[in-house]
Amino acid sequence: MARAHFSKSFTQQLPIPDDAIEAAIAVMRSGRLHRYNTAPGEDSETMELEREFAVWQGQPYCLAVASGGQAMAIAMRAAGVVPGDLVLTNGFTLAPVPGAIAAVGGKSVLVEITPDLVIDLDDLALKAKTTGARYLLLSHMRGHLCDMDRLMQIAATHNLTIIEDCAHTMGARWNGKLSGSFGLAGCFSTQTYKHMNSGEGGLLTSDNPEFMARATILSGSYMLYPRHGAGPAEDVYTDIRLDTPNCSARMDNLRAAILRPQLRKIEQSIADWNARHDMVADMLSASNRIHLATRPAAEVYVGSSIQFCLPEITQAQALAFVSGLAAVGVEVKWFGASQPVGFTSAHQSWRYVAAQDLPQTDKILSGLFDMRLPLTFTLEDCALLADHILDAVAALPETGEAT
Ligand SMILES: *Cc1c(COP(=O)(O)O)cnc(C)c1O
Repeated sequence: MARAHFSKSFTQQLPIPDDAIEAAIAVMRSGRLHRYNTAPGEDSETMELEREFAVWQGQPYCLAVASGGQAMAIAMRAAGVVPGDLVLTNGFTLAPVPGAIAAVGGKSVLVEITPDLVIDLDDLALKAKTTGARYLLLSHMRGHLCDMDRLMQIAATHNLTIIEDCAHTMGARWNGKLSGSFGLAGCFSTQTYKHMNSGEGGLLTSDNPEFMARATILSGSYMLYPRHGAGPAEDVYTDIRLDTPNCSARMDNLRAAILRPQLRKIEQSIADWNARHDMVADMLSASNRIHLATRPAAEVYVGSSIQFCLPEITQAQALAFVSGLAAVGVEVKWFGASQPVGFTSAHQSWRYVAAQDLPQTDKILSGLFDMRLPLTFTLEDCALLADHILDAVAALPETGEAT
């Protein structure tokens, strides 16, 4: 029996909640959209968001900015990266990551990934040693956390400053500790497809007061740094305010207003994503031709998308696999495609980064597929998606068969 065509959109997020819409309307009625435009005695929505996110993330300081990419670029600059510095980062991530390194004049040193889609810690240790790089922009790409205990040991051995890209791990934990609180800073995105949706937006957290003071001035605080909800004490700024350039990348009150109600509901969103993710993962695990990333017991993830690997697939088969699924309404991305379409995660297409050999990463990406799981999909939808994928995998020729 033919399966039902899947007809929902993979890019349709949930609507903005009513209380968030009301908060946004109140900001518009006030006319005070700029984060520093406050009435006497008023704390802006952006200040409140910084306060609430800092509490939720368990960090003393939080800075709201214009995007996740800006959070990373500001973090690197505030951490001391200057033009020409080497910055280690994952060989598999999204373009805003090498883009942020390029924005501060850094040179990306790409590190291999493992079949579990995390940074290869042996390659990291080797490259930290051989290149002398002192910074790591660690991308928890697609929500997969590496062994954070071992990572922290490597960082201590090689004196690495870590900045975490938590675009896909807002709410994820390793041994109970939230991602974003291991390194000097955690960088989060509130772009539409991440775990909270303000269209564009970013959040930066840290427990280091000097770092956060520099980041705040860099983000474009004019001299209004006391109007931050979760910033360091004013005396920390004495010299920093004069030594640090203003590179405007602020969040505004409208976005903050729609994020605060979403933050209050985020634990429910995480549970809803994981129910969807785990249903698809359980069903896909029935096929011995599909490799799913191992999830260590120490990891608590947020399954807002799912990745699966077909290790033996050829280029021609992968193209046919993706288009066959598209024909039944199932939108699956293939990370092994030679041309970037709609997104860029292949290091060969980052030509602003010096070309580097990553044979292990290339091999993994050649068989790696990805599917978004927006919360507009029901569990029944997810079961249908998994069935379609299982059908398509079953139709692939066995290894060694002529194609
Ligand atoms: C979305 C994303 C970011 C940040 O993106 P912005 O569009 O700049 O907010 C960073 N890293 C990864 C892996 C992402 O997917």
